[in-house]
Amino acid sequence: MERSRSTENLLPITSIQSGSGVEIAPDVYCYTVQVANVFFIGNPTTSNEWVLIDAGMPHAANKILEAAEKRFGPEHQLKAIILTHGHFDHVGSLIDILEQYKVPVYAHPLEFSYLKGITDYPKPDTTVEGGLLAKMSGIFPVKAIDISAHLHELPSDGSVPTMPGWQSIHTPGHSAGHVSLFREQDRLLIAGDAFVTVKQDSLYKVLRQKKEIHGPPVYFTTDWRAAWESVCKLADLKPSIAATGHGKPMTGAALAKGLVDLAENFQKTAVPAHGKYVHTK
Ligand SMILES: [Zn+2]
Ligand SMILES: [Zn+2]
Repeated sequence: MERSRSTENLLPITSIQSGSGVEIAPDVYCYTVQVANVFFIGNPTTSNEWVLIDAGMPHAANKILEAAEKRFGPEHQLKAIILTHGHFDHVGSLIDILEQYKVPVYAHPLEFSYLKGITDYPKPDTTVEGGLLAKMSGIFPVKAIDISAHLHELPSDGSVPTMPGWQSIHTPGHSAGHVSLFREQDRLLIAGDAFVTVKQDSLYKVLRQKKEIHGPPVYFTTDWRAAWESVCKLADLKPSIAATGHGKPMTGAALAKGLVDLAENFQKTAVPAHGKYVHTK
C-alpha cells in the first residue's frame, strides 16, 4: 500500500470516545479508534477465537490488537476479517493487521476492484453540501489497497463465514458492495455506513458523538437512490440494537423512530441539496 503519512497525520479528526470500547452483546464488542468503529465478534468467556468487522483508520492496528488482547487474552486467535465496505476509514489498518495475522478477509465482490488494487474509489465529493468534513474529505485517501492474497467473496446465500447465526445483507449506495450484518436471534444490526448514528458531516457533532440517526456520510456516497433503498431494507428488519461505522450504538425507541424517520424522509434529510453525485429529477 502506498502510504502518505504526511497527509494522514494532518487529519484532525479524533472523537472524544476514541480508543474506547463498549460491549453491545456478550459476543459483540464495539471498539472506536479515532472516528471509526470496528467490531470484535466472539464471546471471551467461552473462547479466545474472534472475528474482526472492519479495520478502522490508518495506523490503528496496534490499538485494535491491544484491545483484542485485553478482551480475549494474549493467546487470542483472530479467525477472519469481514468488511462492510472498503473505504479508507474501514480498511485503514487492514494491511498492518494481515502482516501479523494471515487470515481470510471476506467482502462483497462489488468492492473487490478497490481491494485488489485495480481501481481507486471515486473521489470524495468535496463540493457536496455538508459542512467542514465534506470540505476536508478531499484529503481522505481513496487509493485502492491490494489484499488479493487474503480476499474471499462473502457467500451469495447471505451466510457469513466464521459467524454462525449472522447474515450479510447487500446494502449498496454508500458504496456499490456495501454490506450490513444482521443477527436474527437478538435482532442485532451492524450497519457499516448504510446509515450512521452521528451526523458525520458536522465536525462538531463528530467530535462530541451526539447520538442521532443520519443517512450515510455524504462525501463518499455515490448512489443516493440505492442508499435510500438500503435504509428502507434495514428499517424493515426492525433491529433492536444497531451499531454503525461511526457514532455510538443505539437501541429501543430512539433507534426504531430514527430509522423509520430516516427511511420516510430520506430525500429531505439525508440527500444533500447539491453535489456531484446528487441527481435531482
Ligand atoms: Zn464509508
Ligand atoms: Zn466510514
